[in-house]
Amino acid sequence: MKASILLIEDEAAIADNVVYALETDGFKVQWVELGEQGLDILKNEAIDLVVLDIGLPDINGFEVCKIIRRFSQVPIIFLTARNNEVDRIVGLEIGGDDYLSKPFSPRELSARVKVILKRVHPQSSNIPPVDLVNKNNVFVVKMNEAVICYKGNDLNLTRYEYLILNTLLRRPGQVFSREQLIQTVWNNPETSYDRAVDTHIKTLRAKLKEVSDDNPIKTHRGFGYSIKAKKDNAP
Ligand code: CA
Repeated sequence: MKASILLIEDEAAIADNVVYALETDGFKVQWVELGEQGLDILKNEAIDLVVLDIGLPDINGFEVCKIIRRFSQVPIIFLTARNNEVDRIVGLEIGGDDYLSKPFSPRELSARVKVILKRVHPQSSNIPPVDLVNKNNVFVVKMNEAVICYKGNDLNLTRYEYLILNTLLRRPGQVFSREQLIQTVWNNPETSYDRAVDTHIKTLRAKLKEVSDDNPIKTHRGFGYSIKAKKDNAP
C-alpha cells in the first residue's frame, strides 16, 4: 500500500516539485496551502507523514506542529526558509523529526521521507512491535498506540520523550550515554546536541513526577541516564 504524505506549503512552485518527486517515488501526496487545512485532514484521514513549511500564511509551522502533537505522533519534516540554529533546535524539540532548509532538493526530501517511514514502521521488516511490561508493572509500553503507561496513568509524552523512555525501559539498570540516546532516538543525530537529551529528560521527569515522586530515571554524572532496575527501588 502507498504511504500517504501530507504537504503543507503555501508556495506553489515548491509544492509542485515536492509533489512530483514524492509521487515519482511511489507516495500518495495531498497538498494544502494552509495550516488549518492540514489539521483538518490530519484529524479525518490516515496520514503516514507530514511535510510542513514553517512560514505559512495562517498559522506558523511550529504552532501547527504543536497542535498536531496534541493528538498525533505522525512524523513531521519541517521546511525552513531561515537556516539558523534557533529554527533547527526549536523545530526538533517541539516534536518534529527532521528538517530541510530552502532551497532543498526534492529528491533529498523524498530520501528523508523513506528513512523516517522505515523507522516508524518496523513491521515492514516483519518484526511486530512488542509491548513491554516493566517487571514490577510500573511501566507498560503500548507500541501500537505509542503510549507509555506509568503506574496506571497514560503519559502525555512528546515523540522524543516517548522514544527516550522506551529506550531506557528496554534495558533497566543499563546506563545510556547522551551520545547513545541521540544515536538511538534521533533521526539526524549529527545535528542534535547533548543538551537536547537533558532537556527532554527534564520534561520527562516532570511528567513522571505528576504521577509519583519515585523519580525512576537515574542520572549518572558524566555518563548519562538509566531507568532504575527493580533492586534500586527496594527500600
Ligand atoms: Ca512559506
